[in-house]
Amino acid sequence: MGGFFGVVSKEDCVKDLFYGTDYHSHLGTKRGGLAIKAQDGLNRFIHNIENTQFRSKFDQDIVNIQSKSGIGVISDYDDQPLLIRSHLGNYAIVTVGAIKNVESIVKKSFKTRWLHFSEMSRGEINPTELAAALINQGHTFEEGIQKAHDEIEGSCSMLILTAEGIYAARDKLGRTPVVIGKKQGSIAATLETCAFPNLGYKIEKYLGPGEIVFITEDGYEQRKAPEKPMQICSFLWVYYGYPASSYEGINVEDVRNRCGAILAKRHPVEIDFVAGIPDSGIGHGLGYASSAGKPFKRPFVKYTPTWPRSFLPQDQAIRDLVAKMKLIPIRELIDGKRLLFCEDSIVRGTQLKGTIQRLYDVGALEVHMRPACPPLLYSCKFLNFSTSKSEMDLAARKAIKDLEGEGEVDLKKYSQYGSEKYRAMEDRIREKLRLTSLKYQSLDDLVRAIGLPKEKLCKYCWNGEE
Ligand code: SF4
Repeated sequence: MGGFFGVVSKEDCVKDLFYGTDYHSHLGTKRGGLAIKAQDGLNRFIHNIENTQFRSKFDQDIVNIQSKSGIGVISDYDDQPLLIRSHLGNYAIVTVGAIKNVESIVKKSFKTRWLHFSEMSRGEINPTELAAALINQGHTFEEGIQKAHDEIEGSCSMLILTAEGIYAARDKLGRTPVVIGKKQGSIAATLETCAFPNLGYKIEKYLGPGEIVFITEDGYEQRKAPEKPMQICSFLWVYYGYPASSYEGINVEDVRNRCGAILAKRHPVEIDFVAGIPDSGIGHGLGYASSAGKPFKRPFVKYTPTWPRSFLPQDQAIRDLVAKMKLIPIRELIDGKRLLFCEDSIVRGTQLKGTIQRLYDVGALEVHMRPACPPLLYSCKFLNFSTSKSEMDLAARKAIKDLEGEGEVDLKKYSQYGSEKYRAMEDRIREKLRLTSLKYQSLDDLVRAIGLPKEKLCKYCWNGEE
């Protein structure tokens, strides 16, 4: 998925840039990068952060530099920021999102015979380079960014660092947030607002879909008004957003608490205590426990001092092993007890199956599960956020295959909450995971917990509707 942070200041702002970017490290990525305006032009640093934290790779880079403006990125796999020399001038660019029509844009651009792209491994093209090529077709940055937004299928939010300031632009349908913050002498743009409080920034403005602003040390100026239609990613609140962040003015932890509370009202059950699968299930679990009037406990604790992030190793077996090693069960809490777990979502279900088995191994009598969102039926096609490599690996799709066999299936019937097909799928997943009970959140209740109008939220991974 990735995230970015940019800042323009009257003073040196390298520390803000460094920590502001670092606060996007949870977004599960492989590359980190910073670009600053130096005395002799733009300068940048990119490191592989697959097996180490952003901070430890960059702390030496920033020791000897000073700058009053810069942008930083935690990127999914591609090298960023890129330094571009074009008719618009020299600039640095970072992007977040996913360009799904790379091939058709590249084909079209080759007709000019002027353009070429540097290939990454496996023949892929760096999506940020592609976005820059589209931007360079404009007479101005504003026109170029709009051109990129119009051509790109998927999404592309960006920060562009120039000698005069920073352009911040949110993707056309606002799938990812871009937020402006301010403190005395400095203005910043961020994806995650959790980057702001400890650096002293206050939220100033949530950019609307497709909106462009230009930031200088004196303030910021709207360069393109927002579009009306919005499709912000609902999964931000459910899973990958940081609890201390807010999007559209709605805090992540608050939404998770509301999700849990709604689940407790809809699907009560006799249990001894409530828990959350760490980390993203915790907020949902706390909401369930307080609404149900049951204690919240931590039957699993996460060992974080040494383990890097579990989703980074390429090999699934190693990822599963790391995930297992990080969660330590506490027998004294589990033995002889009826437990209810809240979880953000069930993706493939393989790690979860192992986690549930470990609870039985240390004496759990019953294990109930309440995921905070409906069964995932489709892979995301708008962000570089992969719920699963193949849709057929999704726990819900595997359950449907068990029920229907190979061949064409009408998935709509399975996405209708409470329908016969839906209940059969839910029960099949429950059986496979060896759960005592499994009740998913309905899409309507998830939308209620978020609190935005339904038409403003992307819900594609649950209902397949664009
Ligand atoms: S498909 Fe799912 S993960 Fe992708 S943007 Fe929509 S809600 Fe978010």
